[in-house]
Amino acid sequence: MLAPEVEREALLAVHPPAHVEAIERLSARGGGPIDLDTVTSAGSYDAALHAAGGAMAMVDALAAADGPQAAFSALRPPGHHAEPTRAMGFCLFNNVAVAARRAIAAHGHARVLILDWDVHHGNGTEAVFAEDPAVLFCSIHQWPLYPGTGAASDAGRGAGAGTTVNLPVPAGTGDDAYTSLVEHVVAPVALAFAPELVLVSAGYDAHRDDPLAGCRVTERGYEAMTGAVRRLCAELGDVPLGMVLEGGYELGALARSVAATLEVLAADAPPPAGEVPVHPVAAEAAARVARDWPAVAGVSEG
Ligand SMILES: [Zn+2]
Repeated sequence: MLAPEVEREALLAVHPPAHVEAIERLSARGGGPIDLDTVTSAGSYDAALHAAGGAMAMVDALAAADGPQAAFSALRPPGHHAEPTRAMGFCLFNNVAVAARRAIAAHGHARVLILDWDVHHGNGTEAVFAEDPAVLFCSIHQWPLYPGTGAASDAGRGAGAGTTVNLPVPAGTGDDAYTSLVEHVVAPVALAFAPELVLVSAGYDAHRDDPLAGCRVTERGYEAMTGAVRRLCAELGDVPLGMVLEGGYELGALARSVAATLEVLAADAPPPAGEVPVHPVAAEAAARVARDWPAVAGVSEG
């Protein structure tokens, strides 16, 4: 585990000191609500600090010369809704954003991909990197749904124009569309971007049993998406893959889905590619995303 001072210092690459201090003070007073969803206790600051620290430690391990090629950080609280100055949606600090900034600042990675397949849009992560061309943020999320951000037309701003790829899907979307979006949109865009590290905001609340949303992904879908991401990392030249836990609120589904993910991560090699038909949702997304990423211009339904 990293020293708390090191963890705190790294938080400041994403959150201003006033935000970190506000969470620390709230916990020191015994905690309390931040909004209707986001309630803290006396232990919340330490838990959130170490969650971000766990994501950082994972990135450090992946960057080590003799480190693993793939890792999963089973942290809580989740982070992808936390904006630089705002805790929300169960999230206090943005773990995956802290990890990405750590990879760039401490390990010299020029470009990082963050794929967010939590069923909710990662508004916090998007806010952190919207103007940052070093981080490609791709999010597959049910829409409309909390937090209301993540429209298909939001593609980044300024120097970061094009490096946000929002892939909203309707309620009811299942394994076939999710897997097709990863295989046929995220992977070719990522190959063109050429990240030196791939991070996944791995939420499991798109599962068909999850009570917070209406998607219909199964363990097999998470297994297939993880396999697609491992093949992507291999194609990129064996770049490391780090996954951080986000949401997932049906504990049986969460446990089975994480286990399915871990089996793919722990295998010696990525699974062989199967035949994944291009889903209409992916064909439509590709046509739109091709304006910024010509690599997906040829993707069509079939
Ligand atoms: Zn979620």
